[in-house]
Amino acid sequence: MADITNSLYADWKKQYPKYQSGFFRNLRWASVIILLGMYYIIPFIRWDRPGDLPKQAVLFDLPGRKFYIFDIVIWPQEIFLLALLLIAAALALFFITALAGRVFCGYMCFQTIWTDLFLQVERMFEGNRKRRIKMDQSPWTLGKMARKVGKHVVWVFIGLITAGVFVFYFDDAPTLLKRFLHGDAPAAAWVALSLLTATTYIMAGFAREQVCIYMCPYARFQGVMFDDDTIIVAYHPELGEPRQGNRRLRRLSTEKVGLCIDCRECVTVCPTGIDIRNGQQYECITCGACIDACNSVRDKLHLANELIRYTSLREMGGQQTRWFRFRILAYGTLLSSFLLAISLFLYNRPLVKLNVVHHRQPTFIALSDGGIQNNFTVRTLNMSQQKQTYVLDVLGLEGVTMKVAAVDATDDQGRPILALGPGEVAPYTVYVRQDAAHVHPGAQDFTFKLVALGPQGEEDSYQSVFMRP
Ligand code: SF4
Ligand code: SF4
Repeated sequence: MADITNSLYADWKKQYPKYQSGFFRNLRWASVIILLGMYYIIPFIRWDRPGDLPKQAVLFDLPGRKFYIFDIVIWPQEIFLLALLLIAAALALFFITALAGRVFCGYMCFQTIWTDLFLQVERMFEGNRKRRIKMDQSPWTLGKMARKVGKHVVWVFIGLITAGVFVFYFDDAPTLLKRFLHGDAPAAAWVALSLLTATTYIMAGFAREQVCIYMCPYARFQGVMFDDDTIIVAYHPELGEPRQGNRRLRRLSTEKVGLCIDCRECVTVCPTGIDIRNGQQYECITCGACIDACNSVRDKLHLANELIRYTSLREMGGQQTRWFRFRILAYGTLLSSFLLAISLFLYNRPLVKLNVVHHRQPTFIALSDGGIQNNFTVRTLNMSQQKQTYVLDVLGLEGVTMKVAAVDATDDQGRPILALGPGEVAPYTVYVRQDAAHVHPGAQDFTFKLVALGPQGEEDSYQSVFMRP
């Protein structure tokens, strides 16, 4: 029987990271403010679009199957762009990781950002590290209860706002906000709001570093992107060791004594609870809190600020970090190529689509004058955000005339002119007739072509078949 007293799993130990001001803390606050600000504000930015098109700058319209991102509209048939964007995001992560380690985790990851925010609330109600530890160990009193309840109420409130804003990306934000306040929002919105409030509350309030250490797959595979030149947070043992905590003994010691005074400030500020002096560890999210802590201690003692810093293994070995190396260039080239391909596609894509279905019953009609008629359903799509007129043409078929049901407008060559509103999809029944002089036995391939009238001349074509006896 397995010995359950020797568990392979470590018990969860609550972390009480101490607040540490400093340069890297300020950088992280800047990142929190910018990223959270963007997240909370973007759904409320209005955007001028014609007609009935949504007036929200960024809207993921799932029922309408369209994504609106400022002037760009992504249609269902362009969903592959999402795959390209995900690949580009993964490549950007590889690139940043190879260059600067887990700097994304420390400064930009939503788990870190919301955890930072929740921790700040915790400090407001329960104080810094020592007070929090003391409070958790003390018996329950009214004061303790009030502080704990206050903290959880604010946490739930932040979770609620976070979840609400997320839902606003999928519907008109001001309208949905009013519907939430009046209690008549759609059921799906309430479900999403509840689930996301709960996950934000649990992940940022309780799971915290456990997400970074155990749940996040990125923490596990990031090592393969590291090399000796990757920037990491590192302690310099040759400067710090042997550490000597007792200042009197330091002074009296005849042996070489390292610069580390073993104050453990770098450990108490660490959000994942590790001791960076034990070397590079996968739990390190490269946040730089230990650097701020060590620098502040050493500032007070007027010692050089060198013990912990952003560096590379190569630099620690006394050489210069190599910034231009194969993996950086490879990730950088791939990333730029993907971004360029996406930009070129978006810039050059025709904002018109054509789709044709041949009527099968009957496949052709023999006319009394010897000609042959085929009927089609032509679906046209105006993907632009303006009203457009198009001319419909057939290519590759001799002696044909074309008539579109319920459309009388034609150009000077007799080709039908179709008008479509912004974002409009319109099906037309089209009759294509070939005169008797050009009728040959058997089917013949030909092409429908739709060209926008105007300076841009957007066009799309669709190959179909003309059936004959
Ligand atoms: S070791 Fe330092 S950089 Fe790494 S997570 Fe802890 S405090 Fe942040
Ligand atoms: S903060 Fe600096 S001096 Fe203090 S224990 Fe950590 S490395 Fe040593």
